[in-house]
Amino acid sequence: MKQDPINILREHDLKHTKQRVRVLEEIALDPFAISQPELEKKLGKEIDRVTLYRILNIYEDKGILHRIMDLNGTANYAICSSACTEHHHHDEHVHFNCTSCSKIYCLEVNVPRIKMPGGFTASSVTSTAYGICEKCNVKSVVQN
Ligand SMILES: [Zn+2]
Ligand SMILES: [Zn+2]
Repeated sequence: MKQDPINILREHDLKHTKQRVRVLEEIALDPFAISQPELEKKLGKEIDRVTLYRILNIYEDKGILHRIMDLNGTANYAICSSACTEHHHHDEHVHFNCTSCSKIYCLEVNVPRIKMPGGFTASSVTSTAYGICEKCNVKSVVQN
């Protein structure tokens, strides 16, 4: 799962600036997605908001990151697995939004194919499951 930011940038023909590397490092750190406010808080001293926003946009365009909206409508970002970059998001995966810790996980589960009614062409289909994540489930077992 751990990917080297410099390699990711090189693979996508992007120059590696210190700021770009920092953003990737921060997002690659955790197995779950990171929210935009959280990124701003962590990187605020090094990268101003506008620059951060620009970097996130480039990464999203290039298929390095994908954006997931959570229950509150906040943007969260997760690194795309190399498999998903190759397929340019044709294989969308299911997300899991924990209602206890509010973290968003990328699950290695494909979004089921949905048959669209005539006249509708879907370019992407997203699917988010809500509930209790692995970590929070373990916590509640320990407490009881
Ligand atoms: Zn949780
Ligand atoms: Zn994901």
